[in-house]
Amino acid sequence: MPPTTRRPRITTTDGAEYCDAVVVGSGFGGSVAAYRQAEAGRAVVVLERGQPYPPGSFPRNPYEMSRAFWEPKDRLYGLYDVRSFRKLESVVSSGLGGGSLIYANVLLRKDEHWFVHDSPIPGGGYEHWPVSRADLDPHYDAVEAMLTPTPSPYPDLTKARALRDAAERIGAEAFAPPLAVTFAPPGGEPEPKQVIPEPEYGNIHGRTRLTCRLCGECDIGCNEGSKNTLDHTYLSAAAHHGADLRTLSEVTSLVPLEGGGFEVGYTRYADEPDADGHRARSSHRIRSSTVFLAAGALGTTALLLRNRVNLPALGPALGTRFSGNGDLLTFAIGAHDGSRTGPDRLIDASRGPVITTSLRVPDDTDDGNGGRGHYIQEAGFPEFTNWLIETSQAPAQATRAAAAALAIARIRLGGRHESTISAEVARLVGQGRLGSSSLPLLGMGRDTPDGRVRLRGGELDIDWTSATSMPFLTSMRETMRALTDALGARYHDNPLWWTRRVVTVHPLGGAPMGRHETEGVVDAHGESFAYPGLFVVDGAAMPGPVGPNPALTIAAFSDRANDRVLERPKRRRPRRAAGPSVAVPDVPPPPDTGRSVQFTEQMKGYLALGETDPLRGWERARTLGHRFMFELTITVPDVEAFVGEGEHEGVATGFVQSEVLGGRLPVERGWFNLFVPAAGDGDRDDAGNPAGSAPDGRPGFGAGKEMRYRLWVRDLSGAPVTMTGRKAVRDDRGFDLWQDTTTLYVTLLAGHVGPGESGDPVGAGVLRILPLDFARQLTTFRAGGSGALSSLATFGRFFGESLRDVYLSPTGGPGGRDDR
Ligand SMILES: Cc1cc2nc3c(=O)[nH]c(=O)nc-3n(C[C@H](O)[C@H](O)[C@H](O)COP(=O)(O)OP(=O)(O)OC[C@H]3O[C@@H](n4cnc5c(N)ncnc54)[C@H](O)[C@@H]3O)c2cc1C
Repeated sequence: MPPTTRRPRITTTDGAEYCDAVVVGSGFGGSVAAYRQAEAGRAVVVLERGQPYPPGSFPRNPYEMSRAFWEPKDRLYGLYDVRSFRKLESVVSSGLGGGSLIYANVLLRKDEHWFVHDSPIPGGGYEHWPVSRADLDPHYDAVEAMLTPTPSPYPDLTKARALRDAAERIGAEAFAPPLAVTFAPPGGEPEPKQVIPEPEYGNIHGRTRLTCRLCGECDIGCNEGSKNTLDHTYLSAAAHHGADLRTLSEVTSLVPLEGGGFEVGYTRYADEPDADGHRARSSHRIRSSTVFLAAGALGTTALLLRNRVNLPALGPALGTRFSGNGDLLTFAIGAHDGSRTGPDRLIDASRGPVITTSLRVPDDTDDGNGGRGHYIQEAGFPEFTNWLIETSQAPAQATRAAAAALAIARIRLGGRHESTISAEVARLVGQGRLGSSSLPLLGMGRDTPDGRVRLRGGELDIDWTSATSMPFLTSMRETMRALTDALGARYHDNPLWWTRRVVTVHPLGGAPMGRHETEGVVDAHGESFAYPGLFVVDGAAMPGPVGPNPALTIAAFSDRANDRVLERPKRRRPRRAAGPSVAVPDVPPPPDTGRSVQFTEQMKGYLALGETDPLRGWERARTLGHRFMFELTITVPDVEAFVGEGEHEGVATGFVQSEVLGGRLPVERGWFNLFVPAAGDGDRDDAGNPAGSAPDGRPGFGAGKEMRYRLWVRDLSGAPVTMTGRKAVRDDRGFDLWQDTTTLYVTLLAGHVGPGESGDPVGAGVLRILPLDFARQLTTFRAGGSGALSSLATFGRFFGESLRDVYLSPTGGPGGRDDR
C-alpha cells in the first residue's frame, strides 16, 4: 500500500522551499518529531544523511561489510559511523531510522530516582535533570504504543538462562527487558518467520516483514524486518501523513531568519554512485518556522558548533554534559557448568535477539549506599565488534586490529582530535567467531557527565576521560567479573580498556537541557533559550547519563517537545529570505578630485565554518560544496596619498556571497591594503595565529609584501561577522607571481573587528581569482576627474615597482633572486 495519503504542502517561492517543520536526522528524536508534526497536519521535511534500508538490504558479505561505513570523503556512504576521540571511541548509525537500524531493541524507562537534581559530580559541577519521570511517563506510554516492546518470549534460550543463573548466584535479580521486536503474528504464538501484517499507515519500504528468527543479527540490521525499527513504525506513519523523507541529505548550515524561522542548508548526495564509488553532490536550502535537531548527540552538537557564527546567541552550555552513558564491553570467555573445571557450558550467544536479559545494580539515589548504579546485559554477538573479541582471545588475528589501533594512534599523534575511523574499522571487520561457551557483557549506567565537546581545526574534539568515572566503572567491572566467575568463565576486558579507553554506543549530551541558558542550550521542552522555534530532541539534549539504554527516553523527550510545539498556534512560515539587514551600498563614484582610482575585483573559493586553518577549511568546504566569493570595488580616493603613506589603504565596497552565512551579504565597511610589508615572524594575525608563515606551510609569508582585506558583513540573522584575508606577494622558489597574487587566505571572525584588533575565528577558507575574472578586473580600472590618466599612471607605477621590489630585488627576502 502506498504510504502517502496527502501531498506534503511544501511551497516554493523565489527558488527556495518553505515548510512548517524541518527535522534533521531520523533516529529516535527525529522520527517521533516527524510523525507528531505530520500527524497534526504540518508540512514536514525530514533530512537524513544516510540511506534507506528495506528488509533484505543490510550488508552481510565481507565486501559489503567493508563498504558499510559512513565517511563520504572516502566514498563511504554506509550504515556505521565509527569515530575515535581522545579517550573514547563511538559507534552510531547513519540511515533512515538512525540508531534503531542497528540497536539491540531494548526499551527501558529511566529510573525515577536517576532524574537527579543538583547532584554533585566528581571534579566539580553538578548534574541536573529539569524533567522528572512523571513528566515523561505519558510520553513513554505514547512511544511504547507505537514501538510495541515486549519481553523476549524465549526465556529458555541458553544465553538468557546463563545470565539469569549467574545473576542469581551473585544475589542480583535478572529480568527480561522489553524489546521492540515482533515475535508473533497478532494474537498468535511466537514463531519465527511468520508474516507480520502491515499496519494501517503502511510501510515506506513496501516489503514483507517476518517475525524474529532468533539469528542474533539485530546489531547489523535485521534483514527479516522483525525489529520494530523507526522506518517501519514512526517514519512510515509520518510518510502516511505526508511527511517528505529525504535521504542522502546531510545538513550543514542553519541560519535564523529575521522575523522568525530558519533556513537550513544541506548537501544532497546522488542516489547512485559513479564507477569510482563517488556520489555527485548538490547544495539545497529550505526554510521553516520550526527546526527539530535530531542528528544524534555527536551530529547535533557538531552542527551547532559549526554554525555558531550563525547562532551567536547560543549560550555557554553548548558542548557541555557529554557522557557515554557508562558503556563498557567485557567478555566472559569459556563458561563451564558448576565450576571452572566442570564441562563446557553451552551459551550459544548468537541465538536469540542480541539482548534478552538484564540486571540492575542500584544506585546511591535508590538506597543511599550504592555509588552510581548500573545495568548489565548480555550482548549476543554484535558482529561488528568481533574485532574486539578476536584481539582479546586470538593473537593470530590481532594483526588487523593492530592496524586499526595504529590508525587510531596515527590520528592521535598527528594532533587530530577526532576522526571517523570507519575506513580502518571497515578493513578490520572479518570472519571472527566466538566459542559457543562465551558471552559478551554490556554494562552501562550513571557515569560522570563532565565531557566537553569542541571543534578543533573544524573537527569534533571530545574531552571526556574515564578518570572521573573510575569509581563507577570499577564497580561495574566488579559486577561483570562476579558474573563471569559465576559462569566459571575467564574475564576479559576489551583491549581498549588497557589504555582506559571505552567504546560508547550511547553518546549523550552536548546541547543539554537545563533550567536557564547558562545550564542548558535548550529548556525542559527541548526549545533553544536563544532561538525560539529551534528544538533539540535527540541524545544531545540529555544533561547526563540516562542509565539504562537511552533510546526510549530520547523518544519520550521528543514526544514531549512536540506537545510544546503543537499546543501553540501554527507559526507563520517564513515568507522570504530576510533581506539584508542593511541596504547594499552603491559603489561610490570615484571622487572627482582628479586623483582617485577604482577597480572591481571578484574572488571565489570555499570556506567552512568551525575551521581556523584556511587550507583545511577550503578542503572541507569543497567536499561540502560551501562556496564563498566576494565582489568588491576598491576605491583609492587619493592616489598620491595612497602611494605616499605606509598602509596604502583603499576603501572596499560590494558584497560577499556565502552559503554558510546565508546568501548575498552587503559589505557594511571594508578596508583594502595593497603591498604592505607582510607581518613579521613574531607577529600574530587577527585570529591570533603566527603571521609570519603561509597557511600552506610555505616559508616566507612574512618575507615579502601582502595585500589585506577586511570586510564587515552581517549574516542572515543580522549577526556581525568580519572577513579578513591575506594575499602573499613573496618570492619563494620559482617565479609564481600568478599563484602569489591570486590566492587569498581567509579567516572569518565573530563580530565586527577593526584593524589592529583581534577576534575569535569562526571559519576559514581560501579564495582565488580566476584568470578570466582577472582579465575583466584589468578592464575595470577607472580614474576620476581631469587628471585621470596621471592617476592611473601613478597607481600603475606603484604596482609595478612594488612587484619588482619583491621579485627582482636581491634583498627581497630569503627567496629573492640572488638566493636561488
Ligand atoms: C550497536 C548499538 C546497539 C544499541 N542498542 C540499544 C538498545 O538496545 N536500546 C537503546 O535504548 N539504545 C541502544 N543503542 C543506542 C541508540 O541507538 C541511540 O541512543 C539512539 O539511536 C539515539 O537516538 P538519537 O535520536 O539521539 O540519534 P540517532 O538515532 O543516532 O539518529 C541520528 C540520525 O541523524 C543522522 N544525521 C547525523 N548528522 C546528520 C546531518 N548533519 N544531517 C542529516 N542527518 C544527520 C544520522 O545519520 C542518524 O540517522 C544502541 C546503539 C548501537 C550503536
